[in-house]
Amino acid sequence: MDAEHASARPVPVTLGATVTRAPGATALPATGAPAHPSAGSAPRTGTGAPREGGLLDRFGRVATDLRVSVIDKCNLRCTYCMPAEGMPWLPQSQLMSTDEIRRIVRVAVQSLGAEELRITGGEPLVRKDLEVIIAGIREDNPDLPIALTTNAVGLDRRAQALKDAGLTRLNVSLDTLHPETFAELTRRPHLDKVLAGLQAARAAGLGPIKINAVLLRGVNDTEVVPLVDWAVTNGFEMRFIEDMPLDGDRSWSATNVIPARDIRAAIEEGFTLTADPRGRGAAPAERWEVRRPGETALAGHVGIISSVTEPFCAACTRTRVTADGKVRSCLFSHEETDLLSTMRAGTDDEGIAQVWRDAMWAKPRAHGSDRVGLARPDFVQPERTMSAIGG
Ligand code: SAM
Ligand code: SF4
Repeated sequence: MDAEHASARPVPVTLGATVTRAPGATALPATGAPAHPSAGSAPRTGTGAPREGGLLDRFGRVATDLRVSVIDKCNLRCTYCMPAEGMPWLPQSQLMSTDEIRRIVRVAVQSLGAEELRITGGEPLVRKDLEVIIAGIREDNPDLPIALTTNAVGLDRRAQALKDAGLTRLNVSLDTLHPETFAELTRRPHLDKVLAGLQAARAAGLGPIKINAVLLRGVNDTEVVPLVDWAVTNGFEMRFIEDMPLDGDRSWSATNVIPARDIRAAIEEGFTLTADPRGRGAAPAERWEVRRPGETALAGHVGIISSVTEPFCAACTRTRVTADGKVRSCLFSHEETDLLSTMRAGTDDEGIAQVWRDAMWAKPRAHGSDRVGLARPDFVQPERTMSAIGG
């Protein structure tokens, strides 16, 4: 646990699990929450959380999209994510083991109705046992879509093994195609390694492959059209993510965010955009069809994740587990629930599932609160940063 987490105040909840609330965080209404029709007449805990079924919250959302961070460490230092010196890494004893990750996913899928899994970090490839983790999850859940979010450094040597282990989808973070900009933005000179990783992933048949880019003013914001061009040429889906207040340097500012509408306008300088007729569903990205000027043939797709300026919290289906086994109901949450300690205390699968249901029942309305939005002056950045949560 890092210094910030050590100062947080533990609040006991049902079944002996612990919710950690950051000092000064907004308290959520604990009782009297409205029942949601989808919960039917299921028995309830004292807070109103269902005692059976899936991960329902007080606003009627059901979390079926599981994101599990397998490590907080990373081999890059992206300026929008981590400080140059890195973070106070979790000690090995606090990281979920291979078997603990496997069990948590099994509970989520088999007891709580999770329908898809994304493995993230930190940098998941830093874990030497990533292939073993994925193979175990695949053995337990033969039909589960398993996606990986990675910076792709070292992927060239592991893409085939990951595919063989049961990985189905891949998101690679790549913000620029210029080696110097890459070195400035990630503080490491590894663009060639990322491109080699992507090539190996494609050769291994991993797909679909999506490319995530965070646009930063004055750094890579002139690369929108070249990135889309490169992506569609290579059969990748390009996704632009608005810079969120989850950086390690705490230097995020709303005025620096390049909003989704400007990203769309920038893409339209080189391509024609049409709303994807398949719609968005609960996906974080708003998807667009891309065509080259004057052509009717589809060139590819792009997605824009506009968490700051066009938030999609009302349709959120995500539940997150950090590398030290804490459930976070929201990226911006000020509370987390210690699933790993519950598990290590010998709780059975149903007990773990109930702790998880209770945690998700308290999911804030939007952006970690029932009251505020990201761009409002009273927004409080969570203690954990993106890499420590698992983006
Ligand atoms: N290391 C892996 C990677 O970079 O893909 C996985 C973890 S990283 C935290 C997951 C995603 O979060 C990446 O696509 C990254 O660009 C994004 N991310 C990190 N910090 C962010 C921020 N402050 N705002 C928006 N996206 C961010
Ligand atoms: Fe590492 Fe990913 Fe954060 Fe970049 S975005 S520092 S690759 S965790």
